Amino acid sequence: VADALRAALAAVVGDAHVLADRELVAGYERDWTGRFGGEARLVVRPASTEEVAGVVRACADAGAAIVPQGGNTGLVGGGVPRGGEVVVSLARLDGLEAVDPLAAQVTAGAGVTLEALQGHARAAGLAFAVDYGARSAATVGGMVATNAGGMHVVRYGTMRAQVVGLEAVLADGSVISRLTGLIKDNAGYDLPSLLVGSEGTLGIVTRARLRLVPRLGERATALFAVEGAEAALELFAELRRHVGSLEAVELMFREGIELVEAEGFGSDPFDVPHPAYVLVECAARTDPMDELAEAVDALDVRDVAVASDSNQRAALWALREGLPEAINQRGVPHKLDVSVPLATLPAFADAVRERVAEGEVVLFGHVGDGNLHVNVLGLDPDDETVDQAVLELVAEHGGSVSAEHGIGIAKARWLSLTRSPEEIAAMHAIKRALDPAGLLNPGVLLAAG
Ligand SMILES: Cc1cc2nc3c(=O)[nH]c(=O)nc-3n(C[C@H](O)[C@H](O)[C@H](O)COP(=O)(O)OP(=O)(O)OC[C@H]3O[C@@H](n4cnc5c(N)ncnc54)[C@H](O)[C@@H]3O)c2cc1C
Repeated sequence: VADALRAALAAVVGDAHVLADRELVAGYERDWTGRFGGEARLVVRPASTEEVAGVVRACADAGAAIVPQGGNTGLVGGGVPRGGEVVVSLARLDGLEAVDPLAAQVTAGAGVTLEALQGHARAAGLAFAVDYGARSAATVGGMVATNAGGMHVVRYGTMRAQVVGLEAVLADGSVISRLTGLIKDNAGYDLPSLLVGSEGTLGIVTRARLRLVPRLGERATALFAVEGAEAALELFAELRRHVGSLEAVELMFREGIELVEAEGFGSDPFDVPHPAYVLVECAARTDPMDELAEAVDALDVRDVAVASDSNQRAALWALREGLPEAINQRGVPHKLDVSVPLATLPAFADAVRERVAEGEVVLFGHVGDGNLHVNVLGLDPDDETVDQAVLELVAEHGGSVSAEHGIGIAKARWLSLTRSPEEIAAMHAIKRALDPAGLLNPGVLLAAG
């Protein structure tokens, strides 16, 4: 039977793009954190929407479950096999159409990396609004499927706010396509919006029509040393009120800075250690430094380091962007990416440190979005007691068990902590309607039921 499926897939994409060899397949089987993965039945690498549709039909005929995969930088185990699924890699759908300068939009293939998209937009005098550390590998398809966030959400919103239209292959092999770039289109349900954040469970994204933003050449980057989360929020409130050019507000704590330094990813610019650090970046057409300086003038911060050239800017960002890698170098972390209402963030951070008695807690996040990445190191990766404890705290504080990485496999059993039975029933109804045989990414997002 496996050979029949393999032959059917080879007829669609060519023999060279159906991988069965254990060595070739291995790179698609384990996730970035090393925590999730399993054996793939096969890996298929289609190169066009038509081929993706053919692959889905062949899998549907064989009753074979599919795991869509982009850059495999996802952090919740949703893009790797659990055991026996066909991995459909979208990496070869890497076409980038010419930027439409009038609409300030571009159509990109699912396999285009964030970095390639950013470069393409830049070459046309524009910019793509989403940015984060995995830019060299994360793909448009994966970003759409997870509704990726990143550093600039505070200014431009998440991936959902950038998606003007999508093309996708549904579970029966049919293709839906809305790529004309209509900003106003209220003719019925917004299917692209439904697919954003669906984590490969409702359809396979093949292309996206994306909004671009003005390219802002002047930047001001500063690292503020503050007393703690409360002070970080005060700083943020002031910046939000007065600094129109605000683009990123990232919070780190002492333990994160020490970890990044110890693992060799960056160094603390201050002479004395401080409890918390807020990395702020502003972007505008003319130098935003005065605007930033004016806004923080009256604030009681402990210290500030300002980047005056691109090397210094990179050094400040290395502290923040080195964090996920530094954590990974210490071992397989318990990784929770949560959000809470802004006002409760300091209390939540304190409660996490109190509740997690064992292991090393590393907190950081996109503080303007109420988004904290909670990492716990030094515990058995398979013992989920700590995950349960932290996510219960999230629910108690009125937050969400996933701020930006998605539910994947990792959080499926906790979806009900912050989504109601009625909401989950509606999600199951949508899933059943679009994928009645449950072929697309089974077990991801919605636990069986
Ligand atoms: C160092 C680092 C930093 C990160 N920082 C951030 C951050 O700041 N903000 C943030 O939001 N995320 C962040 N992430 C998480 C990750 O990069 C994003 O979730 C990303 O969007 C995943 O893209 P990908 O192409 O790697 O997708 P994958 O990992 O391949 O897949 C992710 C999910 O999307 C599905 N999928 C992939 N492609 C498709 C497709 N074409 N159609 C349908 N479903 C698909 C998969 O099945 C899976 O469920 C970070 C990751 C790393 C490693």
